[in-house]
Amino acid sequence: MTKIIAANWKQNGSLKLLIKLTRDIRTGINRLKKRPKTILFPPSIYLDPISKEIKKNKANNKNIQLGIQNISPYNNGAYTGEISIGMTNDFGCTYILIGHSERRHIFMESEKFISNKVSIAFQKNKKVILCVGETLKDYRSNNTKQVITRQINSALRESLQLIKKNKKNLVIAYEPVWAIGTGRSAKIQDIETTHTLIRKLLFKLINDTKSEIKILYGGSVSPQNAKEILDAENVDGALVGGASLSAKKFIEICRTI
Ligand code: PEP
Repeated sequence: MTKIIAANWKQNGSLKLLIKLTRDIRTGINRLKKRPKTILFPPSIYLDPISKEIKKNKANNKNIQLGIQNISPYNNGAYTGEISIGMTNDFGCTYILIGHSERRHIFMESEKFISNKVSIAFQKNKKVILCVGETLKDYRSNNTKQVITRQINSALRESLQLIKKNKKNLVIAYEPVWAIGTGRSAKIQDIETTHTLIRKLLFKLINDTKSEIKILYGGSVSPQNAKEILDAENVDGALVGGASLSAKKFIEICRTI
């Protein structure tokens, strides 16, 4: 099974830096004997040039795909500052990141808002990476199971029928909030426990008997810990933040699959 390695560049870089990063990642992935499915999430304003840069290498087209870090839950209209799903089609943008902890906690996105985004994405036939994860307080109080169950149920509930018809369009990323950008990834045992819980929830909710829905881990993935994490049970790939801003580190992570 091909692993997915996704790069979330967040609000970092400049046009020049990110074009070079894309080129270096593309070249590095080309050299790998075993290639992961790679998804790049640049800041939205750079989707067009990054999309053109990815397409420069036709042979590698299928391996590298483009995603948007955030999306409006509404169709085109009076929503200042937002980007609609329809607009992303103009840039060959396949994936949409929804529910990232920075959107939940810094921009106060509610579970209802996240559910609306999942719903519009499935109505428009897009692929979704839904991020879920517990805070440090939840982790320390042994509430991880409860939080993840609530986040998955609330995000998917409205869209169950559409997701059932197109299970492969959903990817879940388990990202403990306390592990993001801290240099402190979750313990392998905890990753396996939570990924197995997510598997069970997806089985129950969507009848995903064949594990068509992939589950990624995110939170301080680095060249040092990638192999162990990617070899863990029910881990189908990784969502990488900080380390994806270095082509060298990102390729080293991709090499461990
Ligand atoms: C992320 O923001 O999705 C992430 C996993 O970041 P980092 O790899 O820097 O922890």
